[in-house]
Amino acid sequence: MRSVQEHQRVVLTDASPLPATTASLLDADGLVLAQPVTAAWPLPSFDNSSMDGYAVHADDLAGASPSSPVRLPVRGDIAAGQEAAERLEPGTAVRIMTGAPVPDGADAVVPVEWTDGSTGEVTITGSPDPGAFIRRRGEDVAAGEVVIEAGTAINARVIALLAAVGLAGIPVHRRPRVAVISTGDELVDPGVEPGPGQIVDSNSYMLTAAVREAGATAVRVGPVRDDEAALERVLEEEAERSDLILTSGGVSMGAYDTVKAVLTRMGGVEFVKVAMQPGMPQGSGLVGSTPIVTLPGNPVSSFVSFEVFVRPLIRRLLGHAHCERPRLHAICARDFTSPAGKTQFARVSLRLHDGLVLAEPEGGQGSHIIGGLARADGLAVIPESVTHVAERDELVIIDLRGGA
Ligand code: AMP
Ligand code: MG
Repeated sequence: MRSVQEHQRVVLTDASPLPATTASLLDADGLVLAQPVTAAWPLPSFDNSSMDGYAVHADDLAGASPSSPVRLPVRGDIAAGQEAAERLEPGTAVRIMTGAPVPDGADAVVPVEWTDGSTGEVTITGSPDPGAFIRRRGEDVAAGEVVIEAGTAINARVIALLAAVGLAGIPVHRRPRVAVISTGDELVDPGVEPGPGQIVDSNSYMLTAAVREAGATAVRVGPVRDDEAALERVLEEEAERSDLILTSGGVSMGAYDTVKAVLTRMGGVEFVKVAMQPGMPQGSGLVGSTPIVTLPGNPVSSFVSFEVFVRPLIRRLLGHAHCERPRLHAICARDFTSPAGKTQFARVSLRLHDGLVLAEPEGGQGSHIIGGLARADGLAVIPESVTHVAERDELVIIDLRGGA
C-alpha cells in the first residue's frame, strides 16, 4: 500500500502553473500574478489633503490657540478632482477638501474642526506642525517600484493596489477548467425522488463546489451511467477541453467499477491503494495529455481524497506558492479509534473553550456519513501508528474553514 505522502507526491508530479494570460480586475480575484507589477505612477500621485479643512502656511499659525485665535482671509475652495489653484500667498488660507491637491506654497492643512468653518475670513484656534494633514506624493508607492511580486495570490486588498497603480489587465496564471464526472447507475439528480435502490448524486455537486472554493472553474458533467462506451466518450470529450478531470465512483473492487475498467483499457492511469481512511482506492494519471484523478464514490472518501490530493494540485495549477491548507492544533474532545497502518482523516467540528480549540469527532468512521461531513470544520490527521485517540490528546487539524 502506498503512503499518503507518496501518493500526494505522485499526483503533483509534472503539475506546474498554467500559462500566463490577462485577466480583468473583475475576474482576477483568486488568481495568482504571473509577473511582477510595477507602479506606473507614485501613490499618492500628488500632495493632497487628508482632512477637510484649510491649506495654510504653518508659520502663520504659530501659537494659535482657543485663547489666541488667528484670522486668515480665505482665497477660495479646492475640491477633490480639481486642479490645485494658484500659489498660496503667506497670510492667506484656502478651503480644501479631503483628497484635493494641496496648492504650492501651503505646507500644512488645518482640519475644519480647529476652525469656525467660515469662507470669507476663517478663525483658527490651533497650530499645525509643518506637513500636518498632507499626504505626500510617493509616500506610499514610488513610481517604477515593484508593488506586487509574481506568485502573489490576488484578493480584494491586492486588487485595490493593482487598480490604484493603473492596471486594468492583470497578468495571471490561467484559471484551470476542471471537469467533474460522477458515475453510477444508482444516481439521480437532486430534485428527483430516488426510486428503489437509487440515491441522489451528491458527489458531483460537492466536488463542483470544492473545485470552485479551491479557485478553479468547475464544469459538472454527468452523472454518467455505468456504461463503458458512454464513459469513454465523455472522458475523451472532457480531456479535449479541460485542464483536469475528476471522476467519482467506480474505482473499487466491484463488478461494475466502470471508471477503473475503462481507464485500465485506455491506459495512462494507475490505480493504487493508499494507506488512508477514508479513501483507500485512488487512481491518477492522464487521459491523452490531460491529468485525471479518480476519486472514490463514497461521499466522505471522495471529499477527503479531494482535500488531500486534488486541492493542492488545483492550487499548483493556479500558481500558488503554498498549496496546502493551513493546519492548527486542537484538543480532542472525545475518545475515538483509528485503523492501524492507515492515516485517518477524522472529520471534526471545532469550537473554542477556555482559549483552546476543541475538536469534536463528527460522524464516526463510516465513509457514507454525509451528516458528519457537513458538520465538520476540519480533518484531524491521525498518524498510521495511532489506533486510539484519547480525550485531551493534541491533534493536528487541516482547517477547512478557509485560507490557502
Ligand atoms: P462505487 O465506488 O461506485 O461502488 O461507489 C461507492 C459508494 O459511493 C456507493 O455506495 C455509491 O452509491 C456511492 N456513490 C457513488 N457515486 C456517488 C455520487 N455521485 N453521489 C453520492 N454517492 C455516490
Ligand atoms: Mg459505482
